[in-house]
Amino acid sequence: MTVPASLVEFLSQTRPMLIGGNWIRGASENEFDVVNPATEAVIARVSGAGEADIDAAVKAAQIAFESGVWAMINPYEKSKILWRVAELLEQNIEQLAYLNTLENGKPLGASRAGDVPAAAKTFRHYAGLCTKIEGKTPQISSAPDNFHAYTRHEPIGVVGQIVPWNGPIVALSWKIAPALAAGCTIVFKPAEETPLTSLYIGQLLLEAGVPAGVVNIVPGYGHIAGAAITAHPGIRKVSFTGSTEVGRHIIQSSSGNFKKLSLELGGKSPLVIFADADLERAIPAAANAIFFNAGQVCIAGSRLYVEAPVYEQVVQGIAKIATTMRVGPGLDSETEMGPVISRQQFERVLGFIEKGREEGARVLAGGGRVGDKGYFIQPTVLGDMRQDMTLVREEIFGPVLCAMKFHDMAEIVEKANDTDYGLAASIWTSNLSKAHNLAARIEAGLVWINCHAVSDPSVAFGGYKLSGWGRENGWEGMEQYTETKSVIANIT
Ligand code: NAD
Repeated sequence: MTVPASLVEFLSQTRPMLIGGNWIRGASENEFDVVNPATEAVIARVSGAGEADIDAAVKAAQIAFESGVWAMINPYEKSKILWRVAELLEQNIEQLAYLNTLENGKPLGASRAGDVPAAAKTFRHYAGLCTKIEGKTPQISSAPDNFHAYTRHEPIGVVGQIVPWNGPIVALSWKIAPALAAGCTIVFKPAEETPLTSLYIGQLLLEAGVPAGVVNIVPGYGHIAGAAITAHPGIRKVSFTGSTEVGRHIIQSSSGNFKKLSLELGGKSPLVIFADADLERAIPAAANAIFFNAGQVCIAGSRLYVEAPVYEQVVQGIAKIATTMRVGPGLDSETEMGPVISRQQFERVLGFIEKGREEGARVLAGGGRVGDKGYFIQPTVLGDMRQDMTLVREEIFGPVLCAMKFHDMAEIVEKANDTDYGLAASIWTSNLSKAHNLAARIEAGLVWINCHAVSDPSVAFGGYKLSGWGRENGWEGMEQYTETKSVIANIT
């Protein structure tokens, strides 16, 4: 597929950063290449932010916040602008879907039907919430008639947002839309692997009427640009999505001025299939839960637990899907699963598979690379796994399923929760009371019953344990960008 005419210029020049409403080219030493994971070819060059650029972006966001150009505008105006962003995302769906597939590798059909519409939906959802920010009127218990108390939700101020590469368009919308609705101004850093979609959306934000300086987009390396954001004293809050390891680092680096923190981190989510489940639905869904986006999904169903009587049937069914799946470049319309994101990730995932073999995994499907160019890995199903194996304990973030058997409710509760993570889980059964009973006992922020990975801007998303702090989406997702002020008046 050739580059769409509308993107030729965009891709042919070094992409500058968006700071204070201007497109700025930073120091050449911070420039970096964006690589197509399907071909290993360079697709664009991007200007990366150094410490001074981050400082300039924070200053621009501070000026925009303090001027009231965003925080103080009529909420209906704000709402109209966010709605307009959604419309522009839809009008640019072909360009965005193409860029998303080019830099991330996922099939074009998924970028078109999934990522861009999901981002538009998120902007629409928060367009609606701009006009619905509410406080409470608690009664002062010792003297309810003598005092009038109320709470206000005020925007925190300048926020730093850092996202990974696995779903760059959706991640941007989950960060920027609620922060704008709350009235904050933003310094946003996309992942160094996938900055192009964010820079393209930067143009659309300006076109929609988001005033200069309100959203600043600063691509760059994590240890330079990301670290400068988390340490900057002008930033009041950091919202981070990424690995648990970097999350832990951010907790320390952001502590200087006690920044508020939201952390959406890793996962190792159990997918539980009882013997009474509708297996015709559960088997393809379990395959999709691990192979979608080549397994590079924080809520991937990476630990499969199947009740003993149907174990062989389920794992063989998933292995068959894995073996027949078409793996290839995302721009090829036949492709069902694309490459993993980078050489580093490619080697990491293959290393995990090797480790699995050493520890006694039974390889039921896949287990190696596909072709000799591009970061393609076979959809892999590993059977006879044990709780103590490295692959069952660590997040692989690749198309590798670890399958295990269970025998009763007590065993599955224990095994599902026997993990450092707590992001998501899904339960497959035709017995709804069993499903709700298990849902209540699983330590995870999201539990699905007879579905997996369903998310919506209206439903809170986030994890227990090492999967993070706070929630995105829903009212919770906007509240995290506000401070609660309590006002108490003596009315006697
Ligand atoms: P990563 O943590 O390596 O990088 C994420 C982002 O952090 C990137 O923008 C990177 O540049 C930046 N970064 C790296 N080092 C930094 C530092 N020292 N200071 C500040 N920023 C820094 O993660 P990744 O490998 O890009 O993404 C995969 C991880 O993201 C997986 O663990 C996955 O589970 C997680 N993830 C979580 C969610 C969720 O909602 N819970 C969603 C998607 C991905």
